[in-house]
Amino acid sequence: MSRGLDTARRLLAASRRAVAFTGAGVSTASGIPDFRSPGGVWTRHAPVMYADFLASEEARRRYWRARREMYADFRGARPNAAHRALAELEARGRLQGVVTQNIDGLHQEAGSTRVIELHGTNRRVACVACGRDHDVAAVYDSDDEAPCCGCGGPLKAATISFGQALDPDVLEAAFALARSADLLIVAGSSLVVQPAAALPVAAAAAGADVVIVNRDATPDPGKHGSARGAAEDAS
Ligand code: ZN
Repeated sequence: MSRGLDTARRLLAASRRAVAFTGAGVSTASGIPDFRSPGGVWTRHAPVMYADFLASEEARRRYWRARREMYADFRGARPNAAHRALAELEARGRLQGVVTQNIDGLHQEAGSTRVIELHGTNRRVACVACGRDHDVAAVYDSDDEAPCCGCGGPLKAATISFGQALDPDVLEAAFALARSADLLIVAGSSLVVQPAAALPVAAAAAGADVVIVNRDATPDPGKHGSARGAAEDAS
């Protein structure tokens, strides 16, 4: 382990175009649970598929019930040492940007300015029909989801839902950033779902060193293809 950390430090010191890729493990120290881990909100509530959300008012009610429960954890969360370290690296010109699977906005709150959010953000609520932004706190504090004040459409957190495809522009930007890196630091992602697993592969294929910092062992990136499907790990 210490040898691994020494290697990571050496690679970072030598790097000129480092990029970070972060997952749920980076935010657990901020009190945000991994929603798919045992006890997480998506193990207590049946996931609401995006198609069902669009089609059914009952599904939208279930969605918001789970969402409000989840939001209680988000509301009090503050950036931790990992978020601050990455923001500091960027400020010192040592990090080009962060690609994240997280939806908590804590990288930006810590001071990171270039953050690509693969799964969207919990810090916005938007109308799925017209795209108008709505006040996040007001929506979460109300007991029922008033429809969009502009068009009457349903409101939804600006995150990628189960069964909803990732935004292709966001995905392309993430892969472009990863390919531009000479060092990709992967932190707190188990890399078992696409496109997470494909990002280090793309970076390595473009010549980057890849450092993986994670609680659990991760699959060998070499064993994964570069498939880029819909989100299997929607937040
Ligand atoms: Zn609307």
